[in-house]
Amino acid sequence: MSEYGNGSLYTERRYEMVEQLKRYGITNTRVLEAFLSVERHLFFDHENRDAAYDDCAFPIGCGQTISQPYTVAYMTSMLSERCPSGKVLEIGTGSGYQAAILDYMGYSVYTVERIPELFRRSSAIFGALDLKIHQRLGDGTLGWEDEAPFNGIIVTAGAPDPPPTLLEQLAEDGVMIIPIGGSAGQRMTVITRDADALRHEGFHAFAFVPLIGREGWRDG
Ligand code: SAH
Repeated sequence: MSEYGNGSLYTERRYEMVEQLKRYGITNTRVLEAFLSVERHLFFDHENRDAAYDDCAFPIGCGQTISQPYTVAYMTSMLSERCPSGKVLEIGTGSGYQAAILDYMGYSVYTVERIPELFRRSSAIFGALDLKIHQRLGDGTLGWEDEAPFNGIIVTAGAPDPPPTLLEQLAEDGVMIIPIGGSAGQRMTVITRDADALRHEGFHAFAFVPLIGREGWRDG
């Protein structure tokens, strides 16, 4: 059995995860379909794969975590409802799971990670799964200028404020999903650009690892 061809073992677990997401109020069918299809265990190290379908965050090394399935589903639903297609920039590749979900949903995905080891790990997984995800190693608070503007920007680490450079890279009618707040918790925030104005809406509270960079938190 190859490492990447062994998905049926976990089909039942994935189905149960989706049923639980529905009970928690996730109703977006595109999102639920993506969660049913993308093999989350492939984004975990071998020895941890049995934990892949539990609804909790999990360490992925380098002091970082793969977000809880509910959190990924919540953010992706917010994006999908406001920005159903186009070019999406993710800040914080981490395991690569969120990027793979977006790719499955048909977005053109760009993702940035600041930690070399995580960048290499996700790159190997995208390669093995033959996913056409564009990725870059660097400080995501500065976005990806050569590829801007983006229809959607999804930040998967907690920010003190929305990074101004990222806001500049948002297309007309674009939407940014970003957790904003201090280390104790962040409020999921949706920022929409219409005409020349930016509109901010706050939603539920979450706890993310910090967004570290020139327009985020300082390292250390
Ligand atoms: N989306 C990820 C969740 C990763 S956790 C997943 O699906 O697994 C957040 C990630 O953001 C971590 O990997 C962390 O290293 C990364 N990160 C934090 N600050 C960053 C920055 N300025 N630029 C790019 N990545 C950053």
